[in-house]
Amino acid sequence: MHRRSFLVATALLCRPLAPPLGAAHAQSAVPAVAAFSILGDMLREVGGDRVAAQVIVGPDMDTHNFQPRPSHAEALRGAVIAIRNGAGFDAWFDRLLSSTRFAGVAVTATEGVALRPASGAHGHGGQDPHAWQDVRLAIQYVRNIEAGLVRADPAGAEHYRARAAGYAHRLEALDGWIREQVATVPEARRVVITGHEAFGYFGAAYGVSFRAPQGVSANAEPSAQQVAALIRMIRAQGVTAVFLENIGNPATLRRLAEEAGVRVRGRLFADALSAADGPAPSYEAMMRYNTGAMVPAMRGDG
Ligand code: ZN
Repeated sequence: MHRRSFLVATALLCRPLAPPLGAAHAQSAVPAVAAFSILGDMLREVGGDRVAAQVIVGPDMDTHNFQPRPSHAEALRGAVIAIRNGAGFDAWFDRLLSSTRFAGVAVTATEGVALRPASGAHGHGGQDPHAWQDVRLAIQYVRNIEAGLVRADPAGAEHYRARAAGYAHRLEALDGWIREQVATVPEARRVVITGHEAFGYFGAAYGVSFRAPQGVSANAEPSAQQVAALIRMIRAQGVTAVFLENIGNPATLRRLAEEAGVRVRGRLFADALSAADGPAPSYEAMMRYNTGAMVPAMRGDG
C-alpha cells in the first residue's frame, strides 16, 4: 500500500510543471467570481493579473432583482474565491453558493462595516446594503477582498497587499476630493432626488440629504401619496438636483420631475457601473462622475 502511494506521488511530482505555451495565464490565474460589477472592479484592482475575475451581474444591470442562470452556477464551480456584498443586496448569490456547495473562500464585502438601517417606506426594518457609496467603507470592502485573496492564494500575499494598499491610498484621496466638492454647495441646497434609496451612505458620509420615490430594494412601486409628498418637497425647498439612475424604471421619476416643474439632470450610477465606454466604468470613475454631476445640480447651476 505504502509503496504504491509512494510511486503515485513520485509520478505526480515528475509531471512537467510548465503549462503548454500560450496557456500560462489561463492556467495560473486564480479563478474568482464577483456578484456584481462594482465588486468585480474592486476584485480586479486588488487581484491584478494573478486573478481571472468573472462578474455575474454586469454593467447597468440590477443586482437586487437578479435571477441567476445555470451558467452562473458553472462559473462558481470553477472558482476558488467568491465575493458578494451581503446585507440582503445579493441574497440570490448566497443561494447559488449553497446550491453549488461552494468550497472556496466566500468573502462578504460588508463584513465589519457598520450597516445603516434601511430607511424609506419599503425598508421593513432591514439593512441598507449600499455601503460602497461611502468611500471610507469601500476601503473596508478592499481590505476584505484582500484578506480573501490572501487566504485563497497565499503565494500571492505580497502582491495582493501591495495592490490593496495602493488602491486604498487612491480611495482616501477620492474621499477627500468628494468632501471638497460637496463643501462648494451651500448647506441648505444639499438635497438630491434619485430613483431609489441607494445613497444613504453617501448622504451620511458627505452631508447630502437624499430622497427617492422607491426604497432600498428598488422593487416596489411607490404610492401616489409618496410621489405627491416628494413633489411638494421639491417645490417647497426649490430642489434642483433630480436624477435618474442607470438601473430601474425611470418612468416614476420622469413624471415626478415633470409635475414638480424641474429638469432631470441626467443619470447617477448607484448599484452598477457603466459599460467600458460609458462615464463610470470603474468604482473610482463612478464616484467621481456622480459627485461631478450632483454638485452643480445641487447648486442650481445651468
Ligand atoms: Zn440599490
